[in-house]
Amino acid sequence: MSKKQKLTTMSGRPVDDNQNSLTAGKRGPLLMQDVYLQEKLAHFDREVIPERIVHAKGAGAYGVFTVTNDITRYTRAKLFSQVGKQTETFTRFSTVGGERGSADTARDPRGFATKFYTEEGNWDLVGNNTPVFFIRDPLKFPDFIHTQKRTPDSNLKSAEMVWDFWSKTPEALHQITILFSNRGTPDGYRFMNGYSSHTFSFINSDNERFWVKFHLKSMQGIKNLSDEEATRLAGVDPDYATRDLFEAIERKEYPRWTLKVQIMPEKEAENYHINPFDITRVWPHSDYPLIEVGILELNRNPKNYFAEVEQSAFAPSNIVPGIGFSPDKMLQGRLFSYPDTQRYRLGVNYNLLPVNRPRGVEVANHYRDGYMRFDDNGGASRNYEPSNYDVPGESPEYKEPPLRISGDADRYNPRSEDIDDFKQAGDLYRILPENEKRDLINNIIHSMKPVSKSIQKIQLSYFYKADPEYGSAIAEGLGIAVADIK
Ligand code: NDP
Repeated sequence: MSKKQKLTTMSGRPVDDNQNSLTAGKRGPLLMQDVYLQEKLAHFDREVIPERIVHAKGAGAYGVFTVTNDITRYTRAKLFSQVGKQTETFTRFSTVGGERGSADTARDPRGFATKFYTEEGNWDLVGNNTPVFFIRDPLKFPDFIHTQKRTPDSNLKSAEMVWDFWSKTPEALHQITILFSNRGTPDGYRFMNGYSSHTFSFINSDNERFWVKFHLKSMQGIKNLSDEEATRLAGVDPDYATRDLFEAIERKEYPRWTLKVQIMPEKEAENYHINPFDITRVWPHSDYPLIEVGILELNRNPKNYFAEVEQSAFAPSNIVPGIGFSPDKMLQGRLFSYPDTQRYRLGVNYNLLPVNRPRGVEVANHYRDGYMRFDDNGGASRNYEPSNYDVPGESPEYKEPPLRISGDADRYNPRSEDIDDFKQAGDLYRILPENEKRDLINNIIHSMKPVSKSIQKIQLSYFYKADPEYGSAIAEGLGIAVADIK
């Protein structure tokens, strides 16, 4: 046996007894001077940090991204500069609505977030396993998430609350259709796709802008759980997806995804018949085909869950030169909300944590101090600009081209523009094979059964608008006459 490492207090003093507290006499009370006991209890009391308000339950792994196709005509981002180029990554998967201990197999979108440690800083691709989302305005996000959580009085989940909100949010129908299809209960994290969902931008070396959507296609193929199997696993193996990912990587069965992009030249956005910045819609592949970019492989498990997975912090605001944002309103909201959540959860210096720290690039700025500043805090260097001293300065060559904006500042309600919230949900319904249509319909009937009739009727009218067959089949399952929902 190797020599045991000495157990110490946090200040490094060797601990002489880790089994028995210091007491006044054999049966006596504890002594105040047992500072080791105090430290041990006090540290334990503070072990739990705030969980993420969404995406609390997750699993993660390190990997590598390899470029397989040249896309340098669209972007100058160095990670894509050469076929064969490799970049280290860390990916975290998650469910969305449940708490940190909730079941992995819940019907819920799955988070799919990857940090690319590029030589120009970290790029976080923070997406889901669905190409669209329930709402298109971040002002509605806290309301929406409240309906996915628990009722204020009973602390129970509530189908009434969920469908009440959706019945007032017709733009959710597309995402609802994906969520209640078999893809709403993926068989772990390896057998599902990832999507940026949002539109981002690429900037090339001629300073031209392209709009871009990212897709990560599982090279393991798509595999889903039936509603019954997902429910059973939630009881017998609530950590099913976490276990599957960890054990596959331990077995050296490294999961892989092909990264693909859809590209829209900047000008085309003005006349395209769909608002390309509306996260409730996809860009049909027939208009914007997928272009291969590279392969993401996950090949190394974390050694410590808390340090590397719980403390990993992703934010769509982390971009690199050659990748930019878009006017997508939900993206704009997340640009604030994600780093803000990390500041709250981990503290203002969370980017100094090893899993979050950029690699292959020296971080230099004028930020100083704050809780848990555990590097040299900028040492003796001046922490302001402009200055005659040798301080970090700006690089104008990274400036993006200007973005033309027009219109009056106002609170616009896109619903008043009579846009079609139903067609793409119907398109998805129509491409599903018969057995998957049946599963989708049954999953929805099962979820809507406890809901008030008045809410059911409003919601059914949306399914009917997407596709009369879709709406009629659910109505029949709920015992509502089709004439009532037309
Ligand atoms: P396509 O026929 O070109 O694409 C259909 C897409 O549907 C494929 O990407 C496929 O993903 C995906 N798909 C297949 N089964 C399911 C399912 N059960 N749940 C969710 N997605 C599924 O058609 P369009 O591009 O015109 O899109 C038609 C509809 O497909 C859209 O309204 C949208 O709902 C859905 N979709 C479209 C995507 C897009 O970016 N255009 C992306 C994902 C879904 P895969 O190839 O991985 O099997």
